[in-house]
Amino acid sequence: MLHPHTKGAAVQNNPHTTLVTPTAPIAAETHGGRAKCLQRLVRLDLPVPRTVALSFQAVDRIGQGHLPDVEKVVAEFPEGALMCVRPSSQDPDWGGPGAVMNIGINTAKYESFCDTMGEDAASALYTRFVQSYAVHVARLDPDIFDDVSGDPRSALGQSLHAYEAEMEEPFPQDRAAQLSAVLLSMSRAWHGTSARLLRQAKGAPADAGLGLVVQQMAFGVGHGTSGTGVLQLVSSDTGLPQVTGRYKSQSQGRDGLEEKTAMYLTRDPRGPSLQDIEPEVFETLIGHAQLMRTKLRAEMQVEFVLEDGTLHILDGVRVARSSQAAVHIAVALADDGIIPREEALMRVEPRTLSELLHRQVAPGAKRDVIGSGIAASPGAATGRIVFNAADAQASASRNEPCILVRRETSPEDIRGMQAAHAVLTERGGITSHAAVIGRGMGLPCVVGASNLRFNLKRRTITSADGRVFNAGDEITIDGTSGEVLVGAPAMREAALDDTFKRFMIWAEEVADIGIRANADTPADAQTAHHFRAEGIGLCRTEHMFFEPGRMTVMREMIFANTGEDRRAVLERLLPMQRNDFKQLFRIMEGKPVSIRLFDPPLHEFLPTDKAGQRELADALDLPLSAVTRRIEELSEYNPMLGMRGVRLGVTVPEIYEMQARAIFEATVEVSRDGAPVVPEVMIPLVSTRREVELVKTAVDAVAAAVSSETDTDFDFHLGVMVETPRAALRAAEIAPYCSFLSFGTNDLTQMTYGLSRDDAGRFMSAYVQRGVFAEDPFHVMDTDGVGELVKLGATRGRMAQPGVTLSVCGEHGGNPESIAFCREVGFDYVSCSPFRVPVARLAAAQLAIKDKLGL
Ligand code: PEP
Ligand code: MG
Repeated sequence: MLHPHTKGAAVQNNPHTTLVTPTAPIAAETHGGRAKCLQRLVRLDLPVPRTVALSFQAVDRIGQGHLPDVEKVVAEFPEGALMCVRPSSQDPDWGGPGAVMNIGINTAKYESFCDTMGEDAASALYTRFVQSYAVHVARLDPDIFDDVSGDPRSALGQSLHAYEAEMEEPFPQDRAAQLSAVLLSMSRAWHGTSARLLRQAKGAPADAGLGLVVQQMAFGVGHGTSGTGVLQLVSSDTGLPQVTGRYKSQSQGRDGLEEKTAMYLTRDPRGPSLQDIEPEVFETLIGHAQLMRTKLRAEMQVEFVLEDGTLHILDGVRVARSSQAAVHIAVALADDGIIPREEALMRVEPRTLSELLHRQVAPGAKRDVIGSGIAASPGAATGRIVFNAADAQASASRNEPCILVRRETSPEDIRGMQAAHAVLTERGGITSHAAVIGRGMGLPCVVGASNLRFNLKRRTITSADGRVFNAGDEITIDGTSGEVLVGAPAMREAALDDTFKRFMIWAEEVADIGIRANADTPADAQTAHHFRAEGIGLCRTEHMFFEPGRMTVMREMIFANTGEDRRAVLERLLPMQRNDFKQLFRIMEGKPVSIRLFDPPLHEFLPTDKAGQRELADALDLPLSAVTRRIEELSEYNPMLGMRGVRLGVTVPEIYEMQARAIFEATVEVSRDGAPVVPEVMIPLVSTRREVELVKTAVDAVAAAVSSETDTDFDFHLGVMVETPRAALRAAEIAPYCSFLSFGTNDLTQMTYGLSRDDAGRFMSAYVQRGVFAEDPFHVMDTDGVGELVKLGATRGRMAQPGVTLSVCGEHGGNPESIAFCREVGFDYVSCSPFRVPVARLAAAQLAIKDKLGL
């Protein structure tokens, strides 16, 4: 009998070597996920072959040479039965050594199998064991079997001969001796260095244990209807109901299921199916799979064997799933009342959501990788290489997808980025211009691709293996993996369906930290609104000045000599800005919109090459020398630490005055015909109290003027971006002027480390690889150093101004680990690129659920 799970249990209820019975002391934490799952299947009374589970501790001791009483284990199985050993790690995703089947076969047994199941099947079975024992247990080179050929019996003879010649001893014949050797080799394989590194990469702790299960073999070979198969009730691709799997008659293990001769499960015009040949077995299997789904509370793949028409369930494993399938499966389980919604939320890894929001390279597609860099903005796109923004725009006008390749991007490239399908840069890190803008636009982006050689003069990029790519060549940017691929691999489309939306609403109901979006344009705001962001946490207004028609006005302003002249030029920008803000306010329908006053150094608006400078001289009717002189005057050794942010606000106050007026006039207009708008005005790069005082006085004056001119009362909030270490340290004297403090952790990280956010990409991977940084600190917040400043600023700010709203609007706002930190510190919200809103929200929901459940 293959399935009795209680009788004659010599090892039953020994915590380390136990027969799998309904009541045996088995847990995933001590015996691994597979052992626990098998126990559940036994409890469901499914036809599971008799199984003994070995605990982590038992397997650990085996590795040290202390075998359990193997005779006793063997005695659990009927006289002459064969066994299979499979790994059982705590989390099945951590893997483990491959299964070894047919343990216990020897020459005498083989002869009797020839009578009962036929010579060919018996020979195949014995050969399989000899070869796998030789390779996995005796650690012989697999190529000693390369020349094995001929009919099954002769192949067996050759395999035995090859083994014996190599080992200079006969093939072991004793069941217990064979099993002992297999257990020892599997334990040692688990403790090997490469296996450890591999599972650690999948998130396993360094001391993760391995359990093993010894199971009686059910034969998928022999007389009658015999074979092996797998079945699941949903598609791994979409997660939608669809009986999926394969069955192969006269086969053992999963290998045969990949072959063309494997059968479909359900009726199929392409060939015979299990449903045709064994309709009753098929129905029973479906019933078992449904029972497993309900009782194991998960979508499972059933591994089964038919032995002369009798069904055996060998195992159940979690269905492999794409991110789209993960969401569908979790939602369906909750909808069917099998798991609560909160558990459904815990079942999806937040990071994988971003795969769902963008087109991706299809999982099985062929990837010809020519280079890689930092995966700066997820999604994938194919297009022809262009080397500048103008060519990108020309491509777009011809409807030809293109990839913008730059050494690094600057605000001048915005139009080109908008026209391109993806961006690749040689330099830059996770918070460089290309990365930030790419994420905001949902544009796939790889930055800091230093293993590709960029020759912008010759318009080529060269891969490490010497392949040269020219403008016009087709490449694919995979911003999810950070890879650059040749040509156009197959893609999988984004999948934002109703199920996804419902799942995100569940997350929203649970999350207890607000999620806003960083949005600079109406398109960004639409995306933010679509993902149900609770507002805009950062609108970087400078991007608006790069719109066509505005750049020249901006440049005129830069060349104006007096405050009055500047004001006159800014008058022309005022209606444009007012219109920008009106659009944002309307899209956000009364939700808060935090507008950051002008931040970048002015020279970013000036042309860098001679041709551009000549053009500008023409446009402004100035001598070229006046243009170049002004550019020289504005150039700085270290512009990111120079005349930017509030420093411009203080020294060239007209820009902030114009922006404040545009914000308030837009507020009045939009509030008239829609939900009342309460804008938030944010001052960047503050480092002293006095800066805030000066800007606040100016902004208050503009507010009062607009209010009286329009005869309308309105509210607004003034806040400060805490992005210099000094602002964090002096938060107590800054906060009293503010209704909110928003931590700009990009600049704060740059300044705390003294590490350029635009240049760090060059050595970041070396630093992470060598353990200097645990992670790229521009990507995952450094909670020790930068975090200490954030905490300090938050505490001091709150002490001085109770009720001040606290938030993070740097790129860390979309990173799950950093969100955990912000939540712990008691922040009100985080703000991240619109496409990261769902990721951030699910991460926030999971943190709240974990807290509630005490996990
Ligand atoms: C920051 O510095 O964190 C920030 C949000 O501003 P920016 O990235 O525009 O400098
Ligand atoms: Mg900043």
